[in-house]
Amino acid sequence: MIRKNFLPPFSPYIGEEEIKEVIDTLKSDWIAMGPKTLKFEELFREYIGSKFAISVSSCTAGLHLSLVALNIKDGDEVITTPYTFAATGNVIVHQRAKPVFVDIDKETYNINVEEIEKSITDKTKAIIPVHYAGHPCEMDEILKIAKDYDLYVIEDAAHALGAEYKGKKIGTLGDTTSFSFYATKNITTGEGGMVTTDREEIAEKIKILRLHGISRDAWKRYSSEGSWYYEIIECGYKYNMTDIQAAIGIHQLKKVEIMRKRREEIAKIYNDEFENISELIIPITKKHVKHAWHLYPLLLDTDKIRINRNKFIEELKKQNIGTSVHFIPLHLHPFYKRTFGYKKGDFPNAEWVYEREISLPIYPKMTDDDAIDVVNAVKKIISEYK
Ligand SMILES: *Cc1c(COP(=O)(O)O)cnc(C)c1O
Repeated sequence: MIRKNFLPPFSPYIGEEEIKEVIDTLKSDWIAMGPKTLKFEELFREYIGSKFAISVSSCTAGLHLSLVALNIKDGDEVITTPYTFAATGNVIVHQRAKPVFVDIDKETYNINVEEIEKSITDKTKAIIPVHYAGHPCEMDEILKIAKDYDLYVIEDAAHALGAEYKGKKIGTLGDTTSFSFYATKNITTGEGGMVTTDREEIAEKIKILRLHGISRDAWKRYSSEGSWYYEIIECGYKYNMTDIQAAIGIHQLKKVEIMRKRREEIAKIYNDEFENISELIIPITKKHVKHAWHLYPLLLDTDKIRINRNKFIEELKKQNIGTSVHFIPLHLHPFYKRTFGYKKGDFPNAEWVYEREISLPIYPKMTDDDAIDVVNAVKKIISEYK
């Protein structure tokens, strides 16, 4: 039986609470950055357990501001994974630094920590680990390397809200950690992001840089407590969040653990159904982590089946199952090839995963029946192309 309606690859989980809070905000005098943004930051800080949480317009903005605040500049090198989204690499280039890719491991699809040291040079200033799909990177090893070579650790946690590494929340480990509240991410504000850090001077810098580089509390200048007078002390950016976004975020954050659990339940359905199918490779979860399950990356063992990944996606679509691919490795994109001379073959593990990967739908709105529809569609295609 083919599913009647299309199951989208992602879908936000928005309740009446979010809708009501947005309407309240719209009816108030304050719709740009203001009291609700500060409240959301405080709730987020408490949830993560970091000393500071600074809201921004996106995770991309958070990563960029982290690089600026840590003075990554022209001629520097920053180590990261090729198996990530445009944002991770682009922000390095915005600072005129060079993204130096290190291949991933074939178990978690995260940066291979054993390969990092080989790529460190005198110019290396930072490592950006990306917790792919919500599975934390090997942070003990990364933090040790960073300490030994005096490097910053700027975490891309766009997938990893709610994830833990050895009992510690992601967001408490590196110099800074950036989260995404884009529409597809584990919680959403439409667009938005948050940077957490324990370093006061970095938090202060990011706060100033996100709003034009204007001296403290620039957002208050139109309130009764504020003053018309301000000074530009850095050349900053327009990267702030708004109270409309924060109104959504405040209620999304309350549901973060419920939503993560539901993602985990769906992952379990998939794992149970797929683990004994030899044509499939299911994602593994290391014992010492708590997985945020932003993605469920299923791999096709293309040696064992007469269908490639692209065709498999088309066949799923014919059965009304929406999927996606994460990611086209950065080193295969025209800009990165042209600018840094990267080429096909440079990072074989990233390419190997990319050629086989399908991100199945996994989000809290899905019912068990939705998940079973996905399972049946996958099994049907496998039986047809055995
Ligand atoms: C989504 C994503 C980002 C960017 O998040 P935005 O909030 O859209 O800027 C960065 N890194 C990774 C790995 C992502 O998936």
